[in-house]
Amino acid sequence: ETNPIRNVALRPQVASLPKYVPGARPDKDARVHRLASNENPYPPLASVAAELERELRGINRYPDMGTVDLLGELADYLDRQAAAAHAANSADPADPKVAVSIAPDNLVVGTGSVGVFGHILQAFVGPDDEVVYPWRSFEAYPIIVDIVGGRSVKVPLNAAYQIDLPAMAAAVTEKTKVVVVCTPNNPTGTALGHSALREFIAQIPSNVLVIVDEAYLEFVRGEDPVRGLELVAEFPNVMLLRTFSKAYGLAGLRVGYAVGAPDLIAGVRATVIPFGVSTMAQRAAILSLRAHDELMQRVDALVAERARVVAALAAQGWEVPVTQANFVWFPLADRAAQFATDATDAGILVRPFVGDGVRISIGDRDDNDALLTFTQNWIDEHP
Ligand code: PMP
Repeated sequence: ETNPIRNVALRPQVASLPKYVPGARPDKDARVHRLASNENPYPPLASVAAELERELRGINRYPDMGTVDLLGELADYLDRQAAAAHAANSADPADPKVAVSIAPDNLVVGTGSVGVFGHILQAFVGPDDEVVYPWRSFEAYPIIVDIVGGRSVKVPLNAAYQIDLPAMAAAVTEKTKVVVVCTPNNPTGTALGHSALREFIAQIPSNVLVIVDEAYLEFVRGEDPVRGLELVAEFPNVMLLRTFSKAYGLAGLRVGYAVGAPDLIAGVRATVIPFGVSTMAQRAAILSLRAHDELMQRVDALVAERARVVAALAAQGWEVPVTQANFVWFPLADRAAQFATDATDAGILVRPFVGDGVRISIGDRDDNDALLTFTQNWIDEHP
């Protein structure tokens, strides 16, 4: 007797997964402006690149599975950052005056913050657990919730394209296991204030994990910026998600991390793929922390370019939400697809969300000039 021929069935959640549509990959030498993926337009620092070349000679060996050196340097860096943020805000009467102290056991690193996000959900979300998050937001959220078998509860943004915190709080039920807030929000760029976020978290039951995705943290220049490390110190159910991909310009190496209470972090570490973060990624992250001031000058330059782009767009007649990230959201609704096709034809790669809007990254001066020429022409032709 022979076995019947069958197809191996996918899990139903996987068979119906929404697709993550990345930015187009241009030919190496195509002269296009790559504004589809919120990347940092600056190449790696020469000092970082030189040391990575030396590091290549050791790649016959596995990386440090415990990422010990990186965790140590990250903890020191975050401690200093928390102290500086606290000092800058100590006159604020709403300041909870929480003493922040970050140690390596508050941290877990992974293959990009999207990898860490996946591990967090694997650790905490089981079949039919609800995950509440804003929508539209980062497109990986629904995919990863489906993969782990959880249920997505998508809470629409408000009319100003901001996360609607009261509606988010109202969406929490007894089945809710995780709440995600993304600030600044991808793709709209809108950011939450610290006081509002803190008030929100205080309303969430302490057996619900609150993930604050701060992928674009370093670009925030608004009033009352979120002081995430204080939130971790005050609320044992809060985890921050951060990345080296954006402000630090290491998107191609895939390294991100989460900050949280040691017992939660231990749960996430239990799910991570052994040796997932490469030797090169660990080393580049350490070197980038050491070159922090130089890298933040680049972030300042991108923030200045953002202000220039936003002002020019307003002068052209565009209405875009206030952005605190390295991208701008064009809420074009049913014109999004046409706009994106025209942009691509003009050599500008953007990220369309059909029927909703188009997200465009802030690039270098030349990229942004090309974008502004295109947007002027487009608005002239489509008033
Ligand atoms: N969170 C948000 C909000 C993002 O926009 C992105 C990147 N698009 C990520 C997480 C993931 O970034 P990475 O995996 O490169 O750290």
